[in-house]
Amino acid sequence: MDMTRSRDRMVEHLVTRRGICDRGVINAMRTVPREKFVDPGFEEFAYEDAPLSIGDGQTISQPFIVALMIEKADLSAGDKVLEVGTGSGYASALISLIARYVYSIERHERLALQARERFEKLGYANIDVQVGDGSKGWAKAAPFNAIIVSAGAPEVPSALKEQLDLGGRLIIPVGRGDAQRLKRITRTGAAAFEEIDLGGVFFVPLIGEDAWTAEHPMYT
Ligand code: SAM
Repeated sequence: MDMTRSRDRMVEHLVTRRGICDRGVINAMRTVPREKFVDPGFEEFAYEDAPLSIGDGQTISQPFIVALMIEKADLSAGDKVLEVGTGSGYASALISLIARYVYSIERHERLALQARERFEKLGYANIDVQVGDGSKGWAKAAPFNAIIVSAGAPEVPSALKEQLDLGGRLIIPVGRGDAQRLKRITRTGAAAFEEIDLGGVFFVPLIGEDAWTAEHPMYT
């Protein structure tokens, strides 16, 4: 099934209707086959601007939100990036076409293994996937030029701020339920950070030691 036209139409929608304008993001979205990152049987919906279930109660995020987060991370070709919440692997694949290297961490083993297999099969060689709690970041690979968190946290985990390089950008949804806000935090000094609000979002919870607990009443 050739999905090129559907993919181009989706990108056109992101550019003309949703205001995505970063060349790197647009090129990556034109290149990565989203239909290979959705569950079997869902391929025909791959280019709708909507999230889709990927099992384990998780989702591949809406293309517009993925594009927005990557655009706001302001990536350059030499950047080392951490993605927290690998999920299907789609966002990591996009980032890998823009930045130098992607460290991607996922708490569900099945999803992490599946994403790793996809990267191998599709030839994304600059992504390392690990199973673990991304609310603690990935200390061994730090510092990062950018960190993109694809799940909503109650507060900004301190480890993620600490693992930003000087000038590094952290994109993270913060807050509960329908009160989640997407934030960009930029490290401007050893202990100095600037925060801006990028608007309301709705993400599955970031579950971990420095995030929501799996038993939290909101998420059981
Ligand atoms: N970026 C993904 C994609 O392109 O398919 C979508 C991510 S999905 C919205 C959020 C993911 O975050 C889920 O797969 C979930 O299991 C994962 N997650 C939640 N808490 C986590 C944590 N503490 N560490 C790592 N992954 C976590």
